[in-house]
Amino acid sequence: MAINSGIKQTKKLQEVLAATSLENTLILSEEGYIQFQSESILQNYGYEPGSMINKSIFSYIKQKDQLYVAQALQNLLSKEVNEIKGDTTMWDASDRKRYIYYVARRFNRHIIWSFFDVTSMKKKHKQQLEAVYIDDLTQIPNIKGFERYVTNLMKRHNGQPFTVFKIDINDLKIVNDMLGRDVGDQVLVNVVKRVENLLGERITFFARLEEDAFGIVVRRLADVAEVEALGKELLRCINGQVLIQEYQLVISISVGASFYPKAGKTYKQVMLSTSQALQIARQKEDFQLEVYTPFASEKAYRIFTLRNELLRAIEEEQFTLYYQPIVCAKTTQIISAEALIRWVHPEWNIIPPNEFIPALEETGLIIPVGEWIVRQVCRQLAEWHKAGHEIRASLNMSAVQLFNEEIVAVVREELLLSGVAPAYLTIEITETIEITKKSIFLKTVEDLRALGVNISLDDFGAGYSSFSKILDLKPHVLKLDRSMINDIETDYTSFEVTTALVSLAHRLNMQVVAEGIETATQQKLTADVGCDLLQGYLFSRPIPSAEFLSLLFTHEPLTPQ
Ligand code: C2E
Ligand code: MG
Ligand code: MG
Repeated sequence: MAINSGIKQTKKLQEVLAATSLENTLILSEEGYIQFQSESILQNYGYEPGSMINKSIFSYIKQKDQLYVAQALQNLLSKEVNEIKGDTTMWDASDRKRYIYYVARRFNRHIIWSFFDVTSMKKKHKQQLEAVYIDDLTQIPNIKGFERYVTNLMKRHNGQPFTVFKIDINDLKIVNDMLGRDVGDQVLVNVVKRVENLLGERITFFARLEEDAFGIVVRRLADVAEVEALGKELLRCINGQVLIQEYQLVISISVGASFYPKAGKTYKQVMLSTSQALQIARQKEDFQLEVYTPFASEKAYRIFTLRNELLRAIEEEQFTLYYQPIVCAKTTQIISAEALIRWVHPEWNIIPPNEFIPALEETGLIIPVGEWIVRQVCRQLAEWHKAGHEIRASLNMSAVQLFNEEIVAVVREELLLSGVAPAYLTIEITETIEITKKSIFLKTVEDLRALGVNISLDDFGAGYSSFSKILDLKPHVLKLDRSMINDIETDYTSFEVTTALVSLAHRLNMQVVAEGIETATQQKLTADVGCDLLQGYLFSRPIPSAEFLSLLFTHEPLTPQ
């Protein structure tokens, strides 16, 4: 009796639905077999009337959702809930994917399953999502997209390791400030293209995290060695020259990497570890790559704290200059002294320049510190000269300082105040960005030359120094980098190349200084290739000025030409 009335009711319901419903409706048996299909389904999904009957609802919906839907239907039938709602993907009669929103209710031992299409809404939503998660300039995901991806990866593959790389473009801020934002933007786009070309399929995810930083997720990297190998590939691929508009720029990057879950179990922790590794990489002289280790966080902490203490260091005059002798290659007599900055930190003792110069440059504090150096060196020269030692001195200036034209007036003034002739002072230029066009940078160098001071090109032969630098700067002095000195010891071709370079420098009226002489063999070889002046631990490490004075008493200096 009960069954009979049940069937009757169902029949009645079907008639009503068939006649009135605009909605897509299915009636399902307890086991999920379709018993009724509304006519609208033909129009909306292409299924002929009756063609779905006796088929399982599960054969129409996405496999991934089947278990969930089965469970939900069970709950409905056992009267735990009165209604289930949700979205899923369904295939239409021509096998196209359609997104649907469904509502299912119980009717006796049957289920009424109504649904409507949300495909176009989904698409729109996806576009909106993309607007939120995609970086406008480079068209790759932004930091929000990165966070979402990494967090999902952690959730989905519980504990399965992956590697996060963070790439930082060095000195992009200088490019933006000096050459304009659109040049900087093109640098970014160029880097993205190169990373994509290099890594292609190997990247799992690639995003722009900050103004000048990118994040990469790579899965299935076995160990530190593999991570380092990939990091090196990145450095090799991106470091180098690019032509942006009319500027020949030298681009370099720093790379930090860390492992999930070793370096942290949450997104925040992993990113912090990666950034710490990056901080350390940035302080390195040439191959700026660091993979996170627990030790890294200590060092990064130190760098971070130092950065915050720079201002106080200036106010409390914690900086000091050490001097390293530069000697005549033939006689080893002291000709000159290079001033090298040291930070005498109240807690950490003496901190070398590579650990804080980058921070001074980024914060702009290099400008006042640079002026202080000029003043100190001029006074020091006056003192030495007064004591009867007519030696020269050199000081270092980075690109940031040379973009500030006021440095010329400072040098002029300090020379006047100390009464030292400009020819005694040399300015060593080390810089990472290279600009072939006349720029503020070259104009400052020109103005300094006009004062009568010597210009020296530092670290020649390291990284990306090129002959165009010589042509641009027309230096009086060429300083061969330590790496070149090492090469001539081990490689005959390097020896020949260096010999030719030195003779070319001489023809252009330049003096050549060899840096980093540590052994007697290096001393002999550099003298053999024709270097005029030598500098290195073999003669003396950089020492405080008082010690330097006693060194001068034991060596008779030569007068500069
Ligand atoms: P640099 O101008 O090329 O200075 C030479 C560096 O090589 C110094 O390191 C010196 O201590 C080191 N050195 C000298 N002889 C030897 C040797 O025989 N073997 C080895 N292994 N190293 C040797 P330091 O003092 O740590 O300075 C590092 C860099 O920091 C300098 O390289 C320079 O680019 C920068 N720097 C130093 N002082 C200043 C400064 O006052 N202003 C600016 N802007 N940069 C500075
Ligand atoms: Mg130098
Ligand atoms: Mg050098």
